[in-house]
Amino acid sequence: MVSVLHDLARDTYEMFRPPKLLNVSDWADENRILVSESSSEPGRWRTDRAPYQREIMNSFTQPNISTIVIMASAQTGKTEAELNMMGRAIDVDPGPMLFIQPTDGFAEDFSKRRVAPMIRACPALQRKVYEAKSRDAGNTITMKTFPGGSVSFTGANSPTELAGRPVRYVFMDEIDRFPASAGTEGDPLELAERRTETFRHNRKVVMTSTPTIKGASKIERAYMTGTQEEWHTQCPHCQQFQYIRFVDIRFDKEEYKDGNGEKNYHVRNVRWRCPKCEAETGEFDTKRCPAKWVAKNPRAVEAGIRSFRLNAFMSPWSDWTDICRKFLRGKDDPEQLKTFYNTILGETWEIRDRSGTPEKLFARREHYNAEVPSGVLVLTCGIDTQGNRLEYEVVGWDREEQSWGILRGMIFGRADAEGTWEEVDDLLDREFTMKNGMKMRISATFMDSGGNYYEQVVKQCARRNQRGKKIWAIKGDDGQDRPLVRMMKRDSTGDGSAKFIIGVDGGKEAIMYSTTLTEPGPRYMHFPIDYDKGYDEEYFRGLCSEKAVIHRRGGKATVRWEKFYERNEPLDMRNYARAAYKYFRWNFDKLEHVLSSKGKTEPITRAQAEKRKFNPVISRGIQI
Ligand SMILES: [Zn+2]
Repeated sequence: MVSVLHDLARDTYEMFRPPKLLNVSDWADENRILVSESSSEPGRWRTDRAPYQREIMNSFTQPNISTIVIMASAQTGKTEAELNMMGRAIDVDPGPMLFIQPTDGFAEDFSKRRVAPMIRACPALQRKVYEAKSRDAGNTITMKTFPGGSVSFTGANSPTELAGRPVRYVFMDEIDRFPASAGTEGDPLELAERRTETFRHNRKVVMTSTPTIKGASKIERAYMTGTQEEWHTQCPHCQQFQYIRFVDIRFDKEEYKDGNGEKNYHVRNVRWRCPKCEAETGEFDTKRCPAKWVAKNPRAVEAGIRSFRLNAFMSPWSDWTDICRKFLRGKDDPEQLKTFYNTILGETWEIRDRSGTPEKLFARREHYNAEVPSGVLVLTCGIDTQGNRLEYEVVGWDREEQSWGILRGMIFGRADAEGTWEEVDDLLDREFTMKNGMKMRISATFMDSGGNYYEQVVKQCARRNQRGKKIWAIKGDDGQDRPLVRMMKRDSTGDGSAKFIIGVDGGKEAIMYSTTLTEPGPRYMHFPIDYDKGYDEEYFRGLCSEKAVIHRRGGKATVRWEKFYERNEPLDMRNYARAAYKYFRWNFDKLEHVLSSKGKTEPITRAQAEKRKFNPVISRGIQI
C-alpha cells in the first residue's frame, strides 16, 4: 500500500515537472558554430574537443550552485565556455545579464570581436537577439536585448554601470585585472554581486581569470572558497589519477644562440613523469588518457560555489615543447617567469623577499680595469627628476643583463633652468674610457618627467632627441602587470618625439632579484670602489629601499611597493637605466666586434669606430 502511494506520488510529480532544460554542453553541441574571425578552429562546437569544459559548463545549470569560479591558464578555452553559458541563458532561460571585463575598452572589444560573431553564426541566438540597426537603442555594442532580458557589456572601472538595475546573471572575465575600486564606489566584484540579490534563488555568478600574485589574487581567493576542483589525468602505467604539474614534466634541451645573438633552446622528447610510479608518458598519449575532476573541498557545494583550476598541459591547444621553451627563455627573469606561472601554469606567483642587503653590496665594490671595464657592451643612463636637482646613474651592460655601475651623480638646479640642461648635455656628450683606449658614450637615456616639470622635461628631451642625443622623457606607472616599457601616444605638446611609460613595479622586482645574486654572470651587479664614482653607503641604502608588500583591507589584498628608506632615487635611476637597456634591441655581435681590440696592436679610436658606421642598436619602433 505504501509503495503504491509512493508510485502515485512520483507519477504525479513526473506529470507536472517542467520540461527538461538543455544543459550548457548539450546546448553548445547543438547550437554553437565557431567562425574563423574569432576562432582558430571554425565549425561546429564539440565539447569533446576539450572534455574538461563539460563539467565546468554544466555546473551553470546545476541547482543550488550560484557561483562558478574558473582559475585557469591562457588557451584553455575558458572564455568560450563562458560564452556558451551566456548563449544558453539567452536561448533557454533568459534574464537580465551583465558581462564585465577589466575596462570599458576591453568590454567593447570583447562584444565586437567575440560576442557579435557568435550571435551572427548561431541561428538560435540570431533569431532572438534583435538585429543591430543604427537607430535601434535596444541593440548596441555595449547592450544586446532579447525576449526576456538583455546583456550589458561593461568595464570594472565603470561605477554607474556596476551599480544599476538588478541582474540575474553576472559574468566577470579576467578579474585579477579588475581595479581595486570602481571609481569611488568600491570593489567591482562586490558591486556586481550585490546586483544579483533580488535573484537570490536562481542567480548565477561566473568569474574567470588567469591568476597573478599569490596572496593578492582575486581569482585565487574565490577559488579557495569553492570546491577546488582539479583536472586529474589517469597514468596509463599505474592507473592513478594525478594533476599534471610542471615539476613532473621532463625534457631534453640543447642551447644555441639565435640570429640576434640571444640565447635560445632546442627542446625535445617532452614527457610527463607520473609522481606515483615514475613511469613516463609522452604528450600525445597523456592527452588521450582518461581524466576527471577531483574536488579538494567538496563541501563547498553546500555553499553553492564550484571552483575549477586548469593549467595548459591538458588543453588540446597547448604544445608542451613550446611550453618548455618558454620556461627556459624566461627562467632567469622574474618578470617573464611570473608571466609563465600565471598564463601557462595557471598558478599565482609568490613574491619572496628578494633584496640583497646594502652592507653586502657596499662591501663587495670592486676595482675596475678601466672607467668602462671589460665586459660592458653598451651604456645607458637613468635620470630622476627632483624639485631642486637631477640625479643620474650611468650603467654598463652585457648581453645577459650583467651590469656595471659606471657613474652616479647629481646635477643641482631645477629642470626648468637652462643651466641644468647644459650639464645634462655635458653628461650626454661625455666620453667614458675603455681598457683598450676606445671611448664609449651613453647609447640611450631615460629621464623621469613626473613631478612639476613635465612639460619642460618633455620639450627639452625632444629638442635634444632631434639633434640625435638619444634622450627620452618617461613616466613611471606603478601597479602589477604593467608592461616594462611602452610608447605613449603622441600627446598635445606635438613635438613628434617618442615618450615612454615605464612599468616600474616589474623593474623593481627584477632589480631586487639581481641584488641577491652573489656570483658574477647573467643579471649580476658590479659596482666600482673608486670614491668619485658616487657609490657610497647612501646609494646602496637607496637601491634596496623598497619592498613589495601585500596589503589587506576588509579581506581584499593588493600588492604595493613601499619605501622603508626615504631616499629611493638610486632604485628609480637604476630602474630607468635598465628599462632603456631592455627596450632597445642591441646589436650585441656588432658591438662585441667593434669594441674588442683582439689581435690588434693599436687600440681603435673613436673616429675609426665611427668610420665603420658603428650603430649600436637595431631600432625598435623608433629612430635611434
Ligand atoms: Zn603512474
